[in-house]
Amino acid sequence: MNGEPETLSAFGRRPATPRRALEQAAGALSRAGIESARLDAEALLAHVLGVTRERLYLDYDAPLAADRQERFLSLIARRCRGEPVAYLTGRREFWSLDFLVTPAVLVPRPDTELLVETAVGLIGEAPTLELGFKILELGTGSGAIAVSLAKEKPAAEIWATDISPAALEVARTNASRHGVAHKIHFCAGDLFEAVAYLTGRRGFFQMIVSNPPYVRSEEFDRLPRDVRDFEPRVALDGGPDGLDFYRRIVRAGRLYLASSGLVLFEIGEDMADEVVRLFTDAGCFTLARVYRDYSGRDRVVSARKLP
Ligand code: SAM
Ligand code: GLN
Repeated sequence: MNGEPETLSAFGRRPATPRRALEQAAGALSRAGIESARLDAEALLAHVLGVTRERLYLDYDAPLAADRQERFLSLIARRCRGEPVAYLTGRREFWSLDFLVTPAVLVPRPDTELLVETAVGLIGEAPTLELGFKILELGTGSGAIAVSLAKEKPAAEIWATDISPAALEVARTNASRHGVAHKIHFCAGDLFEAVAYLTGRRGFFQMIVSNPPYVRSEEFDRLPRDVRDFEPRVALDGGPDGLDFYRRIVRAGRLYLASSGLVLFEIGEDMADEVVRLFTDAGCFTLARVYRDYSGRDRVVSARKLP
């Protein structure tokens, strides 16, 4: 269903106010099949007016300027077609930090905060932190993970890689925005190729962390429209069984990991057994552990390289 023509004409009859604009936009969004219709309408109106969502209610019945109405309507029309709110507003909160988001990067997911939380906990246990704890993040996208870790663990030095130079630009901007650009090296390339210049120094990293693409190729077409039609395929497609990146990282990772170094992965909820098996079969890892997210789904796997 297309809510656009209806929305576009709806404000014509009476002067629009935030109250009426939100009611009508939320109606159009839900008819277009958007589940979070009201919330999305509020986020987009707040964005157009340059205020917080709470602030919308203070001027709830004040007239809306015509140019703002127009801008709001055009964003609502795009949202009706499935474009993610974060691409429309150019931002998303992650780990309580405000991240720049463009269509070059995956929109950071709340689930991924568990990866950061687990990493922070495991770094906290590491005895070598004072000596300079070196972390490699593969596939940094918006930089959400690397920047959050840099904020949490100022003593850590981080290498953040991505195959997409456009994504790395976004990550760099986010690192500057949060004052941690000097803690992170940004490197473009296919997984470890990005840090190949360090190969003379085997066992360089104390931790490798990654939320790699893990959607099974054949499941790609069944992803929600917002994800499938708008987010970068290169950020999502994990090959036929979704495990391509885990296989490659486990295989090559040991060369880059220090003795007793850690690997942390975000995983798809039904992948824990297979990813744990990859570590076991590699023969040089121990203590594979699975962590569940707040919905009770397996979401993170960690393993330690044998000393
Ligand atoms: N770390 C971000 C997050 O958690 O929100 C983005 C994760 S996204 C699922 C995967 C990222 O891996 C994308 O930014 C994508 O560009 C990158 N990527 C895909 N293939 C890659 C490869 N061969 N080497 C390095 N990065 C790759
Ligand atoms: N959880 C992501 C989704 O919403 C998939 C992310 C990934 O492939 N790493 O589809």
